[in-house]
Amino acid sequence: MVKRNTGFASVAAGYLFPEIARRRNAYEHAHPDVRVISLGIGNTTEPLSPHIAQAMATYAQALSTPAGYSGYGDECGARALREKIAAVYYRGIVTPEEVFISDGAKCDIARVQTVFGRDVRVAVQDPAYPVYVDGSVLVGAAGKHVDGRYDGIIYLPCTPENGFLPDLSVVPDDSLIYFCSPNNPTGVASTRAELTTLVEYAVAHGCIIIYDAAYALFIRDEQLPKSIFEIPGARSCAIEVNSFSKPAGFTGVRLGWSVVPRELAFADGTPVATDWTRVMTTLFNGASNIAQQGGLAALSETGMRDMHSTIDYYLENACLISDTMRGANFAAAGARVFSTGNAPYVWVAFPGRSSWELFDEILSTCGVVTTPGAGFGRAGEGFLRFSAFGHRDDVAEACRRLARLSL
Ligand SMILES: *Cc1c(COP(=O)(O)O)cnc(C)c1O
Repeated sequence: MVKRNTGFASVAAGYLFPEIARRRNAYEHAHPDVRVISLGIGNTTEPLSPHIAQAMATYAQALSTPAGYSGYGDECGARALREKIAAVYYRGIVTPEEVFISDGAKCDIARVQTVFGRDVRVAVQDPAYPVYVDGSVLVGAAGKHVDGRYDGIIYLPCTPENGFLPDLSVVPDDSLIYFCSPNNPTGVASTRAELTTLVEYAVAHGCIIIYDAAYALFIRDEQLPKSIFEIPGARSCAIEVNSFSKPAGFTGVRLGWSVVPRELAFADGTPVATDWTRVMTTLFNGASNIAQQGGLAALSETGMRDMHSTIDYYLENACLISDTMRGANFAAAGARVFSTGNAPYVWVAFPGRSSWELFDEILSTCGVVTTPGAGFGRAGEGFLRFSAFGHRDDVAEACRRLARLSL
């Protein structure tokens, strides 16, 4: 018999979202009269901009004509889109050749793990988006699973006590550091000074930062950097992954990109972009040409305006949620709300309580689904994540129910 890949055998079963679904189903079964509302969604809910949808529809229709047909495109993305991202999104701080178009940020993170392989040291923020650790496990870079953690991963707690800025001094030389800002799940957007500290550490210690900027367009505070490449020195120590999923509602359309600067190199001097290009051309055959037309339309003036108005809608949801969580009933229970207004997530600490116990209590008393912070890592224990992805009526109704809760 063929042996099972040891990386797959050791990945802790994807536990969080199936377990949430299990508890929700059990509750709905027992209370068929309650309309359960989810504030646990990490998926977009609002429709596409008509301008962007039309661009894709027109292009798709033209594929049925000899003049409009196209087959495989450049594996690294359509030139026009790479140029547009460099010019509009990055305002020229990266070149079109450094932009690689993909089918999404999660897929790019998986390919990053293929490039760096099993022998690299990996550091992650704790709590974190699960794919940084789970993908590392699949390629065999995470070591053994001991007591809920992997012994080859360096976990960097991000807590209210350290201002969500991890202590980097525990990161060994020559590590990969996954860093997400604005952060999922905490909603924290790092400042220029904080990212400067991160970049300086990476440069001094030979580390490479994998910077996940999937929520960058949610940043409303003008002082906050939207890209790691706004930080001096980042070009020699960082890869940025980004996506149209959250800002344009492309979670189902699928389009993202990565930026690998020319200067970024391995220990032997080989440019990382050489191997990145190799992986993109060998294991990936280019993003959907229809989706890429959508990306071009998203970066037009109308597209940008539409994206910003949908993002504003989600940020207003986030505001409703954070105002509710700052209410007297939650304050009396010691809840502390962490919300910067620059992300679609509200992170709430309940000192002395367990995430799952809170999840159950809010589900059973309000019929509202949240996400237990502990599911994102040990440092998330005692927190809940509230997602602002949802229709306004649902979010408002969930907030009314939460405001009546006594904990
Ligand atoms: C949603 C999300 C992504 C987006 O992934 P896609 O594959 O582009 O849909 C990436 N990183 C984080 C932290 C996310 O929450």
